[in-house]
Amino acid sequence: MSKENLTQKNIETVIGLEVHLQFGTKTKIFCSCANEFGKDPNTNTCPVCLGLPGSLPVLNKTALDYAIKVGLALNCRINSLIKFDRKNYYYPDLPKGYQISQYDFPIGHDGHVEVKSKKGSQEVRIHRAHLEEDAGKLIHCPEDQCSLVDYNRTGTPLMEIVTEPDMRSAQEAYDYLQTVKLILQYLDVSDCDMEKGSLRCDANISVRKQGDSKLGTKAEIKNLNSFKAVKAALEFEQQRQSQMLITGQEIIQETRLWDDDKGLTLPMRTKEAAHDYRYFPEPDLVPFTVEIQDIEKIRSSLPEFPNQKLSRFKADYGLSDYDAQILIQDPALAQFFEDCCKQDTPPKKVCNWIAGPLLKELNDRKSSIKDIGLSAKSFTKLIAKVENGTVSNLVGKDILYTLLNTNKDVDKIIEEEGLTQVSDDGALEEILDDVIKENGNVVTQIREGNANAIGFLIGQAMKKSKGKANPKKAGELLKRRLHNE
Ligand code: ADP
Ligand code: MG
Ligand code: ZN
Repeated sequence: MSKENLTQKNIETVIGLEVHLQFGTKTKIFCSCANEFGKDPNTNTCPVCLGLPGSLPVLNKTALDYAIKVGLALNCRINSLIKFDRKNYYYPDLPKGYQISQYDFPIGHDGHVEVKSKKGSQEVRIHRAHLEEDAGKLIHCPEDQCSLVDYNRTGTPLMEIVTEPDMRSAQEAYDYLQTVKLILQYLDVSDCDMEKGSLRCDANISVRKQGDSKLGTKAEIKNLNSFKAVKAALEFEQQRQSQMLITGQEIIQETRLWDDDKGLTLPMRTKEAAHDYRYFPEPDLVPFTVEIQDIEKIRSSLPEFPNQKLSRFKADYGLSDYDAQILIQDPALAQFFEDCCKQDTPPKKVCNWIAGPLLKELNDRKSSIKDIGLSAKSFTKLIAKVENGTVSNLVGKDILYTLLNTNKDVDKIIEEEGLTQVSDDGALEEILDDVIKENGNVVTQIREGNANAIGFLIGQAMKKSKGKANPKKAGELLKRRLHNE
């Protein structure tokens, strides 16, 4: 390969991702310990997950069903032979000295995910998706005085989803992760919360001269705690590797750690120091076959997926791609939208109220529609009150705030707080009298031809009436007065 004419422009980036997903089953994968996050250290443990001699694992049926569900959702071929293997390595967070995983018969293989992005649609192939157990968690004390270990996480059902090296930029990797996360959320098998470690990602990246068929030497990046970090780490690594390629330095296969504060990756271990896991079949779990009917039963229980919902929302409700995208980001929100439409409220109106005021309130409260207990009935009632002019748009938002806090009836809130919109001419004229009196210079501007300044006076009227003035009516009255006097 001639290196002389290599520039950033003719270097191609190649990325493959490994995603780890913890299942939200009630119990762990091979014992009956509770699978809960945030409990006191080492309280959810037993001889099986602590790896005590003589204890035997028993496979959690729900974890198996979830794994098949994920495999199917990622369009994988499913191995009906369920076989587990031991992956041997020593680390203090792994009490048995081996991890029960799947080696030659992953539950899912050869799948694909359709990733939509600004640039269009792209297929990312799934190499394999296998079921395994999570390890415990080491907690390092300040100043490296000691390390503590918490085995509560040991034995949490975990699915590893490995892509083919199909992505060509950090942005594509980011889009893939968003897409897969949403699919997994729709499946309802995990809370997919990266902060709790329910969803984790390692990123593999290499560079090569455009047109080369052979893959470059890859680095695997670990310690990525958010999708933003994945993107930043890949962008950094792309630059670092390209620079090495351009200047003719040898890139070595290694594992690197992302330092989020410094914004760079640092070497952790090289290929030479990589583990030899000495896989062998797990003797304590006898291989067995899942019946095809059982797999098909799971297939028929799969939900409508984000892409399908997106198309349906556009077709059935006449929403734009932009609007539909917002609604499908949370399956519960999408359901809420549909429930509202059933209350005979125009879809576009419902969508606007969800995408604007409701999502703002949910964001402010760091909450989701699932937790807020808002009924489609009260929400659409509120929209109707704004539409028929009982209250102004502005007051409508205040009512939503109160509604979410108190869960009171919308009529009651309006009545108790005296929020009915002031539309009758007499009351409005009184407010406008004051506004005109107090803003003589603006009035002059309007009379001299600055029509836009009328917006300021309407704003003042809204303020004086605490949002209750009907802005449209106020504007009409103002125009009439200022131009006829
Ligand atoms: P390892 O044995 O180091 O775990 P794998 O072959 O299992 O490596 O691949 C792990 C991940 O790395 C996969 O997602 C794969 O697509 C990706 N990958 C493999 N080779 C490369 C490469 N040269 N450049 C970028 N990604 C790669
Ligand atoms: Mg790997
Ligand atoms: Zn246990």
